[in-house]
Amino acid sequence: MTYLPFTRPTIDEDAIASVADTLRSGWIASVPRVVEFEAALSEYLGGRSVRVLTSATAALEVALQVCGIGPGDEVITPAMSFAATPNMIVKVGATPVFVDVDARTRNIDLDRMEAAIGPRTKAIMPVHFAGLAVDLDRLYAIADRHGLRVIEDAAHAIGTEWRGERVGTRGDLVVFSFHPNKNMTSIEGGAISIGRDGDAKRIDHLRFHGIVKDADGNVDVIAAGGKFNLPDANARLGIAQLARLPGFNERRRVLVRRYLERLRADPQPDLPPDSAGHSWHIFAPLIPFDRCRLSRRDFVAAMHTRGIGVGIHYPALHTLTLYRERGYAESDFPNAARIGRETVTLPLFPLMQDGDVDRVCDAVKDVLAGR
Ligand SMILES: *Cc1c(COP(=O)(O)O)cnc(C)c1O
Repeated sequence: MTYLPFTRPTIDEDAIASVADTLRSGWIASVPRVVEFEAALSEYLGGRSVRVLTSATAALEVALQVCGIGPGDEVITPAMSFAATPNMIVKVGATPVFVDVDARTRNIDLDRMEAAIGPRTKAIMPVHFAGLAVDLDRLYAIADRHGLRVIEDAAHAIGTEWRGERVGTRGDLVVFSFHPNKNMTSIEGGAISIGRDGDAKRIDHLRFHGIVKDADGNVDVIAAGGKFNLPDANARLGIAQLARLPGFNERRRVLVRRYLERLRADPQPDLPPDSAGHSWHIFAPLIPFDRCRLSRRDFVAAMHTRGIGVGIHYPALHTLTLYRERGYAESDFPNAARIGRETVTLPLFPLMQDGDVDRVCDAVKDVLAGR
């Protein structure tokens, strides 16, 4: 029986050969392929300005800096995400203000979000959780009403659509991740899709030492920028992956539809809602472990014994030590807390076979039945 991980990148021989060509070219820092990758992403995102960086985490940090966010400022963000989202708010010296998520969509609750806006709020940082788009029409209506910047954490959402439009084709600053677990990869890497004139230049400075060059080629430094430039070898892989992304995402949708039809157990897992435009970064049902004779730890171990990998995405942010120490209690955000306790990420990646889905469904049923 082959081990089925919860995710696995799809990297074909042509992509490997193209990366090898880049290595042989002598140009391996950030020149021709980064320019080409940014142009390809721009085309994919309806002609927007796009900049690539070494990770989405770096891109979130730079996006916050572009918005001028720092000490004394608050940024509103959901209590259910990966830690990189609030961590970067803390890292620039600002305060993350958590808001609970909707129990069904797992995206930020927009009514609670608007209620959390105060005099120190500078920006909103929503997350398109698992690849399901936040309601961008309502979100931007609220942001505009209150004069707030928006940094969309779209790490899960390359290829996601909201009402037929790809996430990142409009809006303020939209951040993507190309980590190996994401829907496409450049090994490590991230991108920002940029909505406002002037921000692209700011990002150029902040991602590379604050360096500017004048018309005569003289170098000056205008900001204490970091070093977040994506290497060309990574960009070359990203170009190959982007060309295959529509196929990857279509295969994810087919596999999820099979899960939604076949995953039945007792107690019945709470299945995530399907929706047009969902890019299905992860498939993560909730299992009511407190009603089971089984803990999540035992569930994960029993699945592992059957050769099936299970991920946990994610513990609720406000239950992590860093944020508990900032005064949050588990009961503050009940929906995020429940998702954090009950979520299990089942295998989902384009190379999976239909039979793999059936194998996972059978295993979940057996394990929850105590067999
Ligand atoms: C993966 C992820 C990130 C960070 O992406 P990296 O490219 O690994 O830095 C940020 N936010 C969310 C929601 C993520 O899942």
